[in-house]
Amino acid sequence: MDTLTEYKALLSDIDKLNSAVSLLQWDQRTYIPAGGHAGRAEVLGKLSKMAFELATSDRLGDLIASLEGVDDLPELERASVRVVGRDYRRNKAIPPDLFERFTIARVNSESAWEQSKDSSDFASFAPHLSEMVRYAQQFAELYGYDESPYDALLEEYEPGMTAARLRTIIEPLKAKLVPFLRHLMEDGSAPDTSFLRGSFSIEAQRDLATEALRAIAYDFDTGRMDDTTHPFTIEIGPGDVRVTNRYHEDLILSGLFSALHEGGHALYGQGIPETLRPLGLADGASYGIHESQSRLWENMVGRSLPFWRCFHNKIADAFPALGGRSPEDLCGAANVVQPSLIRVEADEVTYNLHIMLRFELEVALLAGDLDVMGLPDAWRDGMRRYLGVEPTCHADGVLQDVHWSAGLIGYFPSYMLGNLYAAQLYATARRELPDLDKQIEGGRATVLLEWLREKIHHQGRIYEPETLIQRVTGEPPRSTFFVDYVTEKYGRVYSL
Ligand code: ZN
Repeated sequence: MDTLTEYKALLSDIDKLNSAVSLLQWDQRTYIPAGGHAGRAEVLGKLSKMAFELATSDRLGDLIASLEGVDDLPELERASVRVVGRDYRRNKAIPPDLFERFTIARVNSESAWEQSKDSSDFASFAPHLSEMVRYAQQFAELYGYDESPYDALLEEYEPGMTAARLRTIIEPLKAKLVPFLRHLMEDGSAPDTSFLRGSFSIEAQRDLATEALRAIAYDFDTGRMDDTTHPFTIEIGPGDVRVTNRYHEDLILSGLFSALHEGGHALYGQGIPETLRPLGLADGASYGIHESQSRLWENMVGRSLPFWRCFHNKIADAFPALGGRSPEDLCGAANVVQPSLIRVEADEVTYNLHIMLRFELEVALLAGDLDVMGLPDAWRDGMRRYLGVEPTCHADGVLQDVHWSAGLIGYFPSYMLGNLYAAQLYATARRELPDLDKQIEGGRATVLLEWLREKIHHQGRIYEPETLIQRVTGEPPRSTFFVDYVTEKYGRVYSL
């Protein structure tokens, strides 16, 4: 067997093991009976370890090294060796016994976080968080970096991105967004949402979410939607990309928009060509690019008037009480802005402000400039500066997100970059598809999907996010597209 064939065969084996892991995880988060959890954890642990051993094997290392030495490697294979080689070196950078200690500490930290959150007791979680920060500092040193230890962690989620580069994106965004939010709250008139109060059948909401997925051309022949508590999308393997969703009786739009969000992730997965799979390139370009696809469908499409002009009949069919409402009424109600304490409930205007705060705090924690015990005060201060609101308990403040308890530092910026990439991509799509609004209004969102397929989905992991955005939009990632988008849209919705 020649080197390239063996390399592809090894990557395919890893891919198959990961596919089995994904299916078991999906089951674990949807239909597993309560009694099955402990046994499932064992099976998942074993399979994940097998995949990790292959992914860090000396054989793979040798294959990567010899392919790196081939001068006339075709472009796609070259991209594969770059991406797979990078993952390999990162995986190898952490000694197995250190990683095992971290895994145990993480499990304890996550359960401590759950209890602390329930009782809003930061002090009992603080030692665990300090430990997670120490691990993150250690990992950063082992991964290596040029400028800031934060860069080494960012690389996991957003290859090529650095803390310094993020600041050049965030500063102009902050300078526009903070005063715009104040202006909106003080001088704007909020849309009416009173007609959305009430109780709405879960079954009808589920049907409506299914209609929403059909409206954006999610392919049910290569996917399915099931109920869960925290919605997620999961790629099981070729021809199988699933979404999950949840519904609240008193929040009719919540399940609809989370379906569109997960649907956006799933369209990306369904659009990645199978030819990239044996090269280890059949995945999103980064967490931020993945999030751009979900946010684009959820917000730029799903919260737009053209979409509601097309979709308002569906909501009227499902809920006759809303039959008299115009597309303008429904779209307005879907675009309420309210500075709030909780990130996951944040609207389009305030969402990025939550992320800016977390980024600032993470950088300071990692650099040792901020002590864990000083975090609640720093949090309150940041919330006041950015959003003008302050938590009265830790559960609504520093304890609200699961990420830090699991040692996930450097992850949050991807959520913000997702919003910014989405706005930049959508502005480009509108320029290149001049009748896009009309197409969406006429129920032909596939025009947009085909554009995204060609520009983003078909590229898999071939390019780093910054290069991909540059290639598709002609410019590096910038926040101006997002600023233009929110100020125009919300200026209109709030009649400024
Ligand atoms: Zn998402």
